[in-house]
Amino acid sequence: MRDPRYDILFEPVQIGPVTARNRFYQVPHCCGMGHRYPDSMAEMRGIKAEGGWAVVCTEEVEIHHTSDLGPYIEGRLWSDQDIPIMAKMADKVHEHGSLAGMELVHNGHHSYNRYSRAVPLSPSDITLDNEDPVHARAMDKQDIADLRRWHRNAALRSREAGFDIVYVYAAHDMTILQHFISRRHNTRTDEYGGSLENRVRLFREVLEDTKEAVGDRCAVAVRLAVDELLGPDGIEASGEGHDIVAMLADIPDLWDVNISGWDNDSQTARFAEEGYQEPYIKFVKSLTSKPVVGVGRYTSPDAMVRVVKQGVMDMIGAARPSIADPFLPKKIEEGRIDDIRECIGCNICVSGDFTMAPIRCTQNPTMGEEWRSGWHPEIIPPAQSEAPVLVVGGGPAGLEAARALGARGLDVALAERSEDWGGRVPKEAALPGLATWKRVTDWRMGQLHKLPNVGLYLASDMTADEVLAFGASQVVLATGSRWRRDGVGKSMHHAFDGGDAGPLMTPDDIMAGRMPSGDGPVVIYDDDGYYMGGVMAEACVAAGLKVVIVTPTSVVSPWTAYTLEQPRIQAKLIEMGVTIHANKVVSTRSGGELRIACTFTGRIETIACNTLVMVAARLPNRELYDAVMARVPEFEAAGIESVQRIGDCLAPATIAAAVHSGHRCARDFGRNVDRDEVPFRRETIMLE
Ligand code: ADP
Ligand code: SF4
Repeated sequence: MRDPRYDILFEPVQIGPVTARNRFYQVPHCCGMGHRYPDSMAEMRGIKAEGGWAVVCTEEVEIHHTSDLGPYIEGRLWSDQDIPIMAKMADKVHEHGSLAGMELVHNGHHSYNRYSRAVPLSPSDITLDNEDPVHARAMDKQDIADLRRWHRNAALRSREAGFDIVYVYAAHDMTILQHFISRRHNTRTDEYGGSLENRVRLFREVLEDTKEAVGDRCAVAVRLAVDELLGPDGIEASGEGHDIVAMLADIPDLWDVNISGWDNDSQTARFAEEGYQEPYIKFVKSLTSKPVVGVGRYTSPDAMVRVVKQGVMDMIGAARPSIADPFLPKKIEEGRIDDIRECIGCNICVSGDFTMAPIRCTQNPTMGEEWRSGWHPEIIPPAQSEAPVLVVGGGPAGLEAARALGARGLDVALAERSEDWGGRVPKEAALPGLATWKRVTDWRMGQLHKLPNVGLYLASDMTADEVLAFGASQVVLATGSRWRRDGVGKSMHHAFDGGDAGPLMTPDDIMAGRMPSGDGPVVIYDDDGYYMGGVMAEACVAAGLKVVIVTPTSVVSPWTAYTLEQPRIQAKLIEMGVTIHANKVVSTRSGGELRIACTFTGRIETIACNTLVMVAARLPNRELYDAVMARVPEFEAAGIESVQRIGDCLAPATIAAAVHSGHRCARDFGRNVDRDEVPFRRETIMLE
């Protein structure tokens, strides 16, 4: 039963000519599916509607081939040919009584146009803001008239596809309407440049065009960056952001407001708390009578109620909380707060877009698998077999396997060597900035405690003898991985010569509470490239140590560019006084000195080093697997039918990959997996 405190979240909201059935609003978000994997996209969005989100929006949808974002995979409405794809999504959303929102975009000088080969457009002659050695050309009056018509046509196509809300989008520093508003990008001297009124002119015209074209049946929303966190160089909530909202106050049917660019809007938990956008957006409601939507990684219903009651926003916007738990609204509605799978704020979901792959999520292993694998986030079919299962290792892979196998009705025993559940998760969550990651363990333990058919055994260090004696017919090994001490990683393929020449540690030592000691700097050699090297540096600085990072890459933690964190990480480390040696590999070490070699020239530089922390590759903990598999002839007598490895003990990867691996193990249980077959459905390209 719903807690009456949350009733306010289930009030309907009128948005122009349409009504949202509650205040839960899935704002537009990328999903790496769009025009390339349209069935996957439609199914995923439909499940959000099923989970109770009253509004479910698309990702950005390109209105014209001059806004070709490929190789990044977004939606497309370039022509009528694209209407059926988008209509499928709208239908899926409507099946569950929700409204479908269409985020139309022209990306201006943010577009690559690699496929269309069109010359990119911009308010001014300007270089593209991406890596291509290409410029956009300044738009003339004909181009402006064209753009307005293209947007209008796309709005009409959205209506034809069945959408209920159509966006006019000026946010994230990557849409042409924001480029026109921005003094940085717009140096025009005609009526579209100069004063704020002139720079807002095109935005206003497109907004009015859209209302005129589809406003009878569709709500017209704006998405506006009200602050760019650039001070006076950009839009500020206390300046132009405020003035734009005041100018257009009641013209749109809904204000979807945020901070720009994307790295500010979708900050990770490492850098921002739940509700971090409130100080910037809270003024908006005072200037308009129309509903206001904002985001801020809200997962707590109490926080949601607070922002509505305080008049910060009318609808709770969410991308990531809806990815981690598509059923978040339903769970609040049904009084199942404990069942909410809270987003941990890691941005693995964002990495899918940057790596041109379908979306994935650390917390929700079914995200992106809804259509192709038929995985529903809340429903898992009962198992046909009654074979008892032993899962060894209570990290993210083992916990998820045990949880999902248990949910299928199987008798499961989960054995963990240590005194704590979660494997790598609680250890990493204790590192600077990663506390929310503990939710990966917390949610799974909460669910496991509700399953009487799952036995939970801590302090159970399993040997091969014990596995054979246990009496389980299916054995799942999730024994994790450990960091290598020898420096072998992405760049160095031989063991480091000098490991014995002084104190040497790995992240495992530091996570176990063994901090470097003694005088002289700690050198962190980061050949992993994701977050661990930077986090180790922060932990050592926090312990009062002088820290140097050596990395073969040109920046620290390069993979975190895909999670929108890299510039913040590098800035933070610099501010903390960490010395960074980029483009260097470790070479030799002796007497408190470490020699590092330039990755381009091989030229050697000598730096002081007390303790060397190797953040290189990891090795799977496969000892138990090997010991068990050495006894295959005894399996029959022991009643063992299968032994498999999952997660990091199969191949070390992200926590998201471990959770997914555990989930797949449970889904595949009892199924004859044909190793020659593609294990999921694929969207194939239609031939003419
Ligand atoms: P993953 O990410 O694949 O889940 P983790 O390293 O997070 O891997 O977790 C692996 C877990 O397995 C750790 O908690 C570890 O203590 C446990 N473990 C490893 N070997 C054994 C064993 N022989 N018996 C019981 N638990 C084990
Ligand atoms: Fe949240 Fe991480 Fe999932 Fe994204 S991947 S929704 S940030 S838990």
